[in-house]
Amino acid sequence: MRILILGGTTEASALATLLSGRSDFSPLLSMAGRTSDPRPLPIPTRIGGFGGVDGLAGFMVREQIEAVIDATHPFAAVMSRNAAEACAQARVPLLALRRPPWTAQKGDRWIDVVSMAEAVRALGEEPRRVFLTVGRLELPPFAAAPQHTYLVRTIEPIGEALPVPNVIAIQDRAPFDEAAERALMEREGVDVVVTKNSGGAATYPKIAAARALGLSVIIVARPEKPRDVDEAVSAEAAVEWLERRHGRTP
Ligand code: NAP
Repeated sequence: MRILILGGTTEASALATLLSGRSDFSPLLSMAGRTSDPRPLPIPTRIGGFGGVDGLAGFMVREQIEAVIDATHPFAAVMSRNAAEACAQARVPLLALRRPPWTAQKGDRWIDVVSMAEAVRALGEEPRRVFLTVGRLELPPFAAAPQHTYLVRTIEPIGEALPVPNVIAIQDRAPFDEAAERALMEREGVDVVVTKNSGGAATYPKIAAARALGLSVIIVARPEKPRDVDEAVSAEAAVEWLERRHGRTP
């Protein structure tokens, strides 16, 4: 069974690993190409956009794709919408691999917002030391609040994405560790964290560290994703879905 995995997440990589070496599945992993040095994976990989819904539908026909797993990040809303439309058009079964969002625990001091612009406003007028972990492409709105000092952590260098006087840029990628997150926030005198509600274990340690230090977390809610698709919450559950589908393939 020829499978297209839409990736760029820990779950997509986990699924790729589970499917590698199986003779009943022929998976292909697709990534957008935002990371210049992606971690190597044990299945064939392609990189770059498809060219919208029609491009993806055409790709699926050419590659004889029999099932698609949308394992994109919770904030990759365009790709998920395109996948739902293209799969409906081409009558190819689609499973969305969606990790649950984080929910506030006792002791968390969360400020819920629905956009980056609202996150910027929630920082307030007074200069603060902000740990900004929203991804390189989400930095520009924070230039509207140049009074703050930003500790910015991204996978790729930030270049000119945040033109404000006080930026401390660090490059690192998940998974992170709670003790190290706590030490980083203490060392840099962070007093507020800004994050997307990405969910998952790999980046959760910053949330736990902020709780332990009594820091506020401005947390950006997820965008809408297509509702009328099958869903799974783990790579293992996605394999079970594929096995059930494969059993039905003539
Ligand atoms: P997006 O806004 O939903 O997608 C923008 C365009 O990028 C899509 O229309 C598509 O181009 C291309 N694209 C996205 N995912 C792709 C994939 N897996 N394979 C091939 N093309 C893809 O996505 P985004 O938020 O920019 O995220 C880009 C990638 O980074 C995704 O793969 C996502 O899983 C990963 N990621 C995103 C975040 C985040 O916070 N947004 C965080 C971690 C990882 P075409 O229309 O030309 O096909």
